[in-house]
Amino acid sequence: MAEIGFIGAGNMGGPMLANLIKAGHAVSVFDLSQEALEGAQAAGATVAASPGDAAAGRDTVITMLPAGAHVRAVYMDEGGVLERAGEGTLLIDCSTIDVTTAREVSEAAAARGLEMLDAPVSGGVAGAAGGALTFMVGGSESAFARAEPVLEPMAKAVVHAGPSGNGQAAKVCNNMMLAASMIVTSEAFALADRLGLERQTMFDIVSSATGQCWALTSYCPVPGPVPASPANRDYQPGFTAAMMNKDLKLAQQAAAAAGAATPIGAEAARLYDEFCAAGNEALDFSGIFKLVDKGR
Ligand code: NAD
Repeated sequence: MAEIGFIGAGNMGGPMLANLIKAGHAVSVFDLSQEALEGAQAAGATVAASPGDAAAGRDTVITMLPAGAHVRAVYMDEGGVLERAGEGTLLIDCSTIDVTTAREVSEAAAARGLEMLDAPVSGGVAGAAGGALTFMVGGSESAFARAEPVLEPMAKAVVHAGPSGNGQAAKVCNNMMLAASMIVTSEAFALADRLGLERQTMFDIVSSATGQCWALTSYCPVPGPVPASPANRDYQPGFTAAMMNKDLKLAQQAAAAAGAATPIGAEAARLYDEFCAAGNEALDFSGIFKLVDKGR
């Protein structure tokens, strides 16, 4: 049993920490939201008064926060995690943030003699609840080996992506591909509709042809073919368009910094921005079908 400090008990962090408690770990939680704290308490966590208090005396600190600025503040502010974590505490940030911040916070941790990993996840709220997330982990081999058993109760897969920041690199690449495939799958259905091809027929053919992809077969953007997909419940999330928009901006930021040409990724970012600006931030990201389906 490990003593774990958990900071950020929202839609993802809440069910993640509940799985750690179920696996027998003791979890001390901090969040700015009273509602999040109450949920964590109901799952069996004890409440800490600050990020520093959640970190002090723990074996491991896990953070699951909205964006890079929150991660920087929680770790690097006066009285924060880096100042209060004891010798040998392993730090794991599971938030999806920019590669640069991930590497800077990890360097600041190393300067204090602490090992830190970036470990963003794929699998959404359902994966968090079911202990079936995929963790993409950046950091040293030794820190990865220590983290694996801690992450295991929350995970379907834990993959070492390389040195610090590489977990975030894998995450932005994955989500850029996912956004582009969701858009083009939506375009294919909009085109098939106009060409008189039944949606179910198009699904049956393409799901066993070379256009097959996760956006089609697991998360189909039109109602009908995949009963569990958000399209069947008016695009209630799931994974919101706002979250996808954030990840696409991170991908574009990373591409600009690295000098990579990502024209399809850039167009995907533009389309999700347009979709969100039209008031659809809270819809599932597969709701992009509604934008695409407007036609020329
Ligand atoms: P969320 O907004 O539900 O939860 C974030 C929590 O962090 C909130 O409870 C908030 O009060 C808390 N918080 C913010 N600033 C804080 C601070 N300074 N100190 C303590 N707590 C603070 O978001 P979420 O959906 O749980 O997502 C968390 C992260 O996981 C994001 O980086 C997101 O991109 C990533 N992610 C989300 C999904 C998903 O499907 N929701 C999937 C994969 C990855």
